[in-house]
Amino acid sequence: MRETRMFRKILVANRGEIACRVMTTAKRLGIATVAVYSEADAGARHARLADEAWPIGPAAARQSYLVGERILEVARRSGAEAIHPGYGFLSENADFAAACAEAGIVFIGPPAAAIRAMGSKAESKALMERSGVPLVPGYHGEAQDLPLLAREAARIGYPVLVKASAGGGGKGMRVVGGPEEIEAAIEGAKREALASFGDDRVLIEKYLTRPRHIEIQVFADSFGNTVSLFERDCSIQRRHQKVIEEAPAPGMDPARRKAMGEAAVAAARAVGYVGAGTVEFIAEGDAFYFMEMNTRLQVEHPVTEMVTGLDLVEWQLRVAAGEPLPVREDRLRIQGHAIEARIYAEDPARDFMPAVGTLVHLRQPGEVPGHVRVDTGVRQGDTITPNYDPMIAKLIVWGEDRAAAVRRLSAALAEYEVVGPQTNLELLRAIAGHRAFAAAELDTGFIARHAGDLLPAAPAAGPDEAFAWAAAVLVTLRDQQAEMQAQARDSGDRWSPWAEADAWRMNGEGYQDLHFRQGDDQPVTIRAYPLGEGRFRLDLPGGLVEAELAEDEAGLLLLLEGVSRRLRVVRRGAELVVVLNGRNHMLHRIDPLAPPRTETAGNDRVRAPVPGRISRVLVQPGEMVAKNAPLVVIEAMKMELTMRAPMDGRVESVHHQAEEMVEEGTELVTFEMEAAAP
Ligand code: ADP
Ligand code: ADP
Ligand code: MG
Repeated sequence: MRETRMFRKILVANRGEIACRVMTTAKRLGIATVAVYSEADAGARHARLADEAWPIGPAAARQSYLVGERILEVARRSGAEAIHPGYGFLSENADFAAACAEAGIVFIGPPAAAIRAMGSKAESKALMERSGVPLVPGYHGEAQDLPLLAREAARIGYPVLVKASAGGGGKGMRVVGGPEEIEAAIEGAKREALASFGDDRVLIEKYLTRPRHIEIQVFADSFGNTVSLFERDCSIQRRHQKVIEEAPAPGMDPARRKAMGEAAVAAARAVGYVGAGTVEFIAEGDAFYFMEMNTRLQVEHPVTEMVTGLDLVEWQLRVAAGEPLPVREDRLRIQGHAIEARIYAEDPARDFMPAVGTLVHLRQPGEVPGHVRVDTGVRQGDTITPNYDPMIAKLIVWGEDRAAAVRRLSAALAEYEVVGPQTNLELLRAIAGHRAFAAAELDTGFIARHAGDLLPAAPAAGPDEAFAWAAAVLVTLRDQQAEMQAQARDSGDRWSPWAEADAWRMNGEGYQDLHFRQGDDQPVTIRAYPLGEGRFRLDLPGGLVEAELAEDEAGLLLLLEGVSRRLRVVRRGAELVVVLNGRNHMLHRIDPLAPPRTETAGNDRVRAPVPGRISRVLVQPGEMVAKNAPLVVIEAMKMELTMRAPMDGRVESVHHQAEEMVEEGTELVTFEMEAAAP
């Protein structure tokens, strides 16, 4: 056997939760860590966690995390012997893997040739076909002319799915219902694929209407051992991207597990695979078909770790250092059930549009070894920027069986508090508490099918609402009082009327009115009557209540009609966010003395909803457009957003060009209303 030596120092060429995740294992194994960070990530959690952190350039990934030479240079100068690429960024870049090898630095991942072989969905399918791995009926040939692709789509039978061969992250993917849409879909997919991957080739597949996404974790060493570490079910998706994953897959029987495991191992062997990889299948009924192989550690690898008790990053490091796989396949067991929920800064109500902003308040569920795990790359006060993926964290739970895991998921999600950017937390809670999820009725259409239950149009009024209103009022009164006392202290005049700090006596009445607005609702006035000793009677929208605010080392405690509950109130200027049961109630304080806001934004201008880069401008000044016509495409975090005309009209001016970066709210296009017919 070859002599092996574990690395002394590795560089982690990534950011966020996965960089932190890799470093945690490295530290446990006594390996020193080198982080790299962009200008946007100075002081980020991953940079702080490492033994040393090196700057690699501006915020844009293209100028920092994707610049292989610069990262190799840091590896050389810092004396790192190996590079862990995490996922995304350079992890599936065969040229980078080859450059590492040339520089004498170990790439912690598969050989460049294996990455290359699996890099194209079309070519990998052709290869899998030859290895006897089942494929979805489809076309993955070289020829790409429109008439041929349209004929192939008809042969396969609608609905079909057009995919970018070089694709990933759902980009360049189009579902096509019938022949009348096929040409536009292919052209659109090609355009997106060219812009995102520099390669416009597409493939066509039969679109399965109620499939499950089931994938197999594989691992191989350089001695020819290749094993399957069982499956994960990743069917809970939005925009064809995963949100909740679990292991094992509900309803999986041993025979099918064996068949899928063998197909995945065959796929890995066919490309001479070494290291951690995932073979993704789409399954419908008893059939399963190869979709693609991801030649890296997957985002959802923790669920496999939770049910096998293994540390997959440790395996990656051992295999990369030349060691054989540490456990034989017949020793591997699944124990219990694990579920991962991805917490994203995004707005489920606005088609899952990525959100940005500072994490003003962040409280994570307490970790319980073996039961509750939080993988994150951020701390309170950090900012989710448009430069990178909007994932805030992953919450992973384990239970003796699926029902126990689902229960624990709900409980842990209820503890999760985020104030700042919009998040998908409420959606995750709704899924975790849904009857169909409990019954494991899983398929990739789950979220869309249950959208009515999962995405409530308006926050439901309930007992929580009274607590939220009361908390907002009492916190406002408390802060008012503190302010007055501070003013009195500052004025140094202990005879000042402020020193009395009593708004009640000052206005000469026995009550005070406070005005709030919730969302776009009408303002609500709440009258507060002091009862002495910190107690108040409040006239809430739901009726009169008696309330009192207390504070101890664990935070705020609100007593309402004798019932006490813990909650948190985060103030951002006039906005009060009451976090109760993990849910955010946003109340806006209205100051009746403030001048009214002048609202100039009409529907005659289109603004950027998020910060991002303009990828295409589709109209010119003077052009007539119909309502909903595409105007400008913005690229922001893993997504392309098409801005559309709000009405029929004439484009008066276009303010930005392709490639320009724009801030949230930047005016993009101004309209002239179509002149009314005489
Ligand atoms: P997986 O296929 O591993 O389940 P996804 O497809 O959802 O995961 O996300 C992986 C992809 O998302 C990467 O290929 C990358 O494009 C992007 N990505 C997600 N998070 C990050 C991150 N923190 N840094 C860089 N890229 C990321
Ligand atoms: P990506 O590179 O974005 O991960 P995949 O090919 O892995 O692309 O597909 C992503 C998701 O799209 C799958 O998890 C599944 O939900 C859906 N999908 C892919 N192929 C099909 C298909 N043939 N029929 C139905 N849904 C599909
Ligand atoms: Mg995939």
